[in-house]
Amino acid sequence: MTIQKYTASLPLLLKELALPTFGRLWDGLCRESDTHGWGSGRCLAALCEHEVAERSQRRMARYLREAQLPKGKSLATFDFGLLPSLNKTHIHALATGDIWLDKGANVLIFGPPGVGKTHLATAIGHGLVENGHRVLFSRTTDLVQKLQAAKRDLILPALLAKLDKYDCLILDDFGYVKKDQDETSVLFELISERAERKSILLTCNQAFSEWETIFVDKMMAAAAVDRLVYGAAIISINAESFRRKVSLGTPGQSCS
Ligand code: ADP
Ligand code: MG
Repeated sequence: MTIQKYTASLPLLLKELALPTFGRLWDGLCRESDTHGWGSGRCLAALCEHEVAERSQRRMARYLREAQLPKGKSLATFDFGLLPSLNKTHIHALATGDIWLDKGANVLIFGPPGVGKTHLATAIGHGLVENGHRVLFSRTTDLVQKLQAAKRDLILPALLAKLDKYDCLILDDFGYVKKDQDETSVLFELISERAERKSILLTCNQAFSEWETIFVDKMMAAAAVDRLVYGAAIISINAESFRRKVSLGTPGQSCS
């Protein structure tokens, strides 16, 4: 009886068990193990380690694809030197997702156009994915349109449940939503559904005091603010537009 007799079914069995890395490497590693006299336990452990490592890489690549984050906007490409009062350590800590995602807390980034809000939100999103979290980036108006369509088709609860798989929803340009009963009521439903369970990271040009221009009435605006600020990290960037500075050739600073 040869060794092949016992291993002939391995490729099929490993496929059935969904262990592709194991399937690719077992033959070579077993031979190496025989040559060096590693013993079967060490060989098995090495195969398992390769499988786990590649599985985690595949998962991260999948999470990165599904996150739909704008390209090239990472913490590595964010120049903190332009915003000296922005707490770099705090931003890096937020990008790990530790503590705040577990609590379903939120991050709210405010500032005028062009100061780096979208870049910062995207960079934090990248960090979250690299730390194994599921994220979805969307312009708020695009997501609101999908929610409205789902409401029309009577499948809003199903869409909200689908969005629940994301540990963090990044809602870019929150303030561009139209003050309209249909639009803001689905947005409010999303915020209420996730409150204190699943995180939202939003960017917004308008201060809370101007949110009555987003939500149809004062009560709804106040209730949305109340849910979003609970345990939230609020980052306000008060600086000159980066785009404007670049076009004038004078990068400058300031934020709080
Ligand atoms: P906002 O969302 O506030 O309107 P963006 O994030 O879109 O601003 O920034 C405008 C442009 O300037 C983007 O190309 C962004 O990558 C760049 N930018 C802004 N702030 C920084 C920064 N601190 N370091 C590097 N690039 C920046
Ligand atoms: Mg933006």
